[in-house]
Amino acid sequence: MSVAAKPETTNRPEATAQPRRVVWSGPAMPASDGAGVKLDRVIGQPALPDLDPFLMLDAFGSDDPKAYIAGFPEHPHRGFETVTYMLAGRMRHRDNKGNEGLLTAGSVQWMTAGRGIVHSEMPEQDNGLMQGFQLWVNLPAKDKMTAPRYQDIAPERIPVVDLGPGARAKIVAGELNGVRGPVQPGTTEPLFVDLMLEPGAVATIPVQPAHNAFAYVYEGEAQLGEPATTLAAGTVGVLSLGDAVSVSATGKGARLILVAGRPLREPVAKYGPFVMNSEAELRQAFLDYQAGRF
Ligand code: MN
Repeated sequence: MSVAAKPETTNRPEATAQPRRVVWSGPAMPASDGAGVKLDRVIGQPALPDLDPFLMLDAFGSDDPKAYIAGFPEHPHRGFETVTYMLAGRMRHRDNKGNEGLLTAGSVQWMTAGRGIVHSEMPEQDNGLMQGFQLWVNLPAKDKMTAPRYQDIAPERIPVVDLGPGARAKIVAGELNGVRGPVQPGTTEPLFVDLMLEPGAVATIPVQPAHNAFAYVYEGEAQLGEPATTLAAGTVGVLSLGDAVSVSATGKGARLILVAGRPLREPVAKYGPFVMNSEAELRQAFLDYQAGRF
């Protein structure tokens, strides 16, 4: 794995009783994946190859169906989880075990690929719009060959909490202000919140002190951490370790996702849709896939 601008959070042993701050920030990188879907690669780009346990984050969104309608035809996954969070439009999902589902705006699919699935993900527009995220979360060695599992979560199951004047959060995974999101956590104990801040709104989000965390601003402009760093839309900020992160919106207001998780600190061997711990396990993944054992 190539490593550039390795965030200083990744291998620090213990948390401190400190507010978090932005230790690295940069723009998402325009990319294309699947059958030519245009997207912005936030994590998994040369400047930010990963942030243990997060392997990739794509932001997709367009009012031009040509930018996404060819979708992500049949492809495999092994050894990690894919999280699809839809803001607008729909994603139709089918796999080789006969599972099928339609993710609507505001819903999330937390898919544990485990020992292997083969699936397609096909975007559909709604009033011309399609927008969302896909996050890849690594699995620990002990869970990489677990049975595949889906958590398909409808919009109404995602709680919204009030964080103060003009500040609200949707809790997809993890806990905030005593309210727990619907995703059942595994070893990485992820926090995934979608923050909605009106101009000037201020909030403080507690984060597990030793978990790696990042924020991605997708609308408006936000200030994160102490001392504060301003992040424009389309920018990711990697956070230092610490107990909590302060966030505020500038005069434009802000929408951002804040994501944190327990680092696995295991060797990573990855190639495309397979993420294992060793080259030998990667070779086995190819053999199993080619032999139809997924
Ligand atoms: Mn996929």
